[in-house]
Amino acid sequence: MGNKFSYHFHNLNSVLFMVEEINPYDVAKAQIDIVAKEMGLEKNIAEYLKRIERALIVTIPIIMDDGSLKIFEGYRVHHSTVRGPGKGGIRFSMEVTLDEVKALATWMTWKTSLLNLPLGGAKGGVRVDPRKLSFKELERLTRRYTAEIINVIGPDIDIPAPDINTNSQIMAWMMDVYSMQKGRSIPGVVTGKPVEIGGSVGREPATGMGMYYVLQALCEKMNLDLKSQRIVIQGLGNVGGTIADILYKEGCKILAVSDISTGIYCEDGLEIDKLLEWAKARNALIDYKNDNYKFITNHELLTTKCDVLIPSAIENQITQANADKIDCKIIVEGANGPTTPEADKVLFKKGIRVIPDILANSGGVCVSYFEYIQDINSYFWKLDRINAELKSIIIEAFEETYKISEERKIPLRTAAYIIAVSRIAKAIELRGFFP
Ligand code: GLU
Repeated sequence: MGNKFSYHFHNLNSVLFMVEEINPYDVAKAQIDIVAKEMGLEKNIAEYLKRIERALIVTIPIIMDDGSLKIFEGYRVHHSTVRGPGKGGIRFSMEVTLDEVKALATWMTWKTSLLNLPLGGAKGGVRVDPRKLSFKELERLTRRYTAEIINVIGPDIDIPAPDINTNSQIMAWMMDVYSMQKGRSIPGVVTGKPVEIGGSVGREPATGMGMYYVLQALCEKMNLDLKSQRIVIQGLGNVGGTIADILYKEGCKILAVSDISTGIYCEDGLEIDKLLEWAKARNALIDYKNDNYKFITNHELLTTKCDVLIPSAIENQITQANADKIDCKIIVEGANGPTTPEADKVLFKKGIRVIPDILANSGGVCVSYFEYIQDINSYFWKLDRINAELKSIIIEAFEETYKISEERKIPLRTAAYIIAVSRIAKAIELRGFFP
């Protein structure tokens, strides 16, 4: 995996997030090897699954507010459309590379397959620091990016959604560009839209809700009372912020949280309601004043003794370099790809249960799927129905995963991959290879 111990500072997350130079696509491919071995998958199929179906690289020239020209690079990758149209978010960040997007697209394939949704796996991104753009520049960037990828997206081709640093407003612009080009309103081209233009109620908190349902289910299996678990959360974005809010309201003690500026710790538990209000107003945690709170580094945050650790930021956070120092019972992966395969081995030996990303954070794409079918049918569901169907789908996937992991005495990740990869392999077998 190359340069394992050469650290560089992670731009997106400031000096506190030191990230090893690990290529996420190498991680995604290594995970395929692990499951292929476990399930005896045919070698050629495993090799095929390590490839992406197609990738589009686009150049995005933008006239900035001051009249100057800036050029950005963007991507849209389809890993697999064998079980249905591509599905996956769009990320705006300086860390975006073609290989990162390939990895994220691959993980989307496993995620939709694990939930048995009739969708494939895709992902997109633009290498840009959106904090450096004005609102109007962000709109122009989004619109031009959409125009550049217009031929590879569509309700029956590939359906984008929000991811890191993208939101419902960005989805609204994408839907508008697509619809204007086609000459009619086509809300089903993207999910995670504002409710007023065909978005779904419950989509925004869906990832956090799904994490809550699977954590609750695992606690039951382990005879743990969720309320008395001490929690540490990395990242306070849509995913980390929502799960922090849910667990705080549940009565859990949240010992530490972090954002891009710092980690913050309090042995007696943080006042999450106040911190979330602070974060929502676009304030950095480093500026938060409370004499009982201690500022901590990313490394200290991840290795804080707790019961449940919830990495909800970016890839490659739990690695060979810190896995043996992780001190918790359960890890719930809110982020995509936060744990490397080497770290997985260490965590498994230590008896830490990891609810893998493709299960833990699948609530988002699950409600995206609900949004998509609501758009196609022009019939919208109430929140009760959204949450009930989300819970039923994610808990079914959890139970299947848990059963396989117990029977085979393997990590939850490998079990989840067995289910997801088997469905893809079966679909490939049934369809055969064209021509
Ligand atoms: N970006 C989210 C994810 O990584 C949601 C994708 C979607 O809803 O299509 O799962």
